[in-house]
Amino acid sequence: MLTFDFTGQVALITGAGRGIGRGLALAFAAAGAAVLVNDLDAQTAQAVAAELHAQGADALAVTADVRDRTAVDALVAAALARWGHVDILVNNAGVEPVASILEMSEADWDVVLDTNLKGTFLCTQAVGRIMQAQGRGAIINIASTAGKAQPLYLRSGYAASKAGQVGFTKEAAREFAAYGVRVNAVCPGVIVTPMTEHLRHNEQQMARWLSEIPARRLGEVTDVTPLVLFLASEAAAYIIGQAIHVDGGKLMA
Ligand code: NAP
Repeated sequence: MLTFDFTGQVALITGAGRGIGRGLALAFAAAGAAVLVNDLDAQTAQAVAAELHAQGADALAVTADVRDRTAVDALVAAALARWGHVDILVNNAGVEPVASILEMSEADWDVVLDTNLKGTFLCTQAVGRIMQAQGRGAIINIASTAGKAQPLYLRSGYAASKAGQVGFTKEAAREFAAYGVRVNAVCPGVIVTPMTEHLRHNEQQMARWLSEIPARRLGEVTDVTPLVLFLASEAAAYIIGQAIHVDGGKLMA
């Protein structure tokens, strides 16, 4: 089993109240990091922070909407006030509205682009300033195979936001490498989380997914977390600007 040691480091994880974000909070805490658990939902953020405290970890729950610059600045200020540094940022918060292009409202388009893409920009900018001053840090963006060569269906805003995250990752990686900060993305396939719950009850959808995935199963949160910890670690010191699939082999481009 892979083990990592982030003792003395601070990981800020957005959208960590459930799903992949919660799994990342647990995994970074188990590896010794202090964790800032962000979510839009105060209850879930606090519940995850309480889980971490129960394991003896140092954690702080901060409710903030990643679409809102003032809230993001306050989120990052809370981490600085508590620990004085931020070593790892995981831009994980995301939403996935389902609608055809002809029926999607402008408001839904704005929510998905603002959460998944603008949120990544705002958090990267706020934390990036701290990391630049520190001369070190790692940023991991949770994108999606939907942002690579894997179109979904009825998710134009989501696919556009995730492709945007992949492009942003490469631009940020080039800029931030000069400061000793590495930026990469992880592109999960279909992972068992609340986000995919409604689709997992659809037998036809499940059969189609499974026929397309060489691993013949959906991914678990624990399939994603080790890659994120690896990218945050010194073992990945020479990995910059990549967008790596975790999808059971579905996409081999
Ligand atoms: P999830 O279970 O729906 O969790 C997403 C979390 O993000 C929720 O706790 C949500 O809070 C939070 N969030 C939403 N908008 C936010 C905002 N504006 N500010 C702060 N937090 C916000 O989703 P997941 O499956 O864990 O997905 C996590 C990331 O992985 C997303 O970026 C997603 O696109 C990506 N991903 C997931 C899959 C998959 O199959 N699950 C595949 C590829 C990529 P609320 O509870 O308040 O909504």
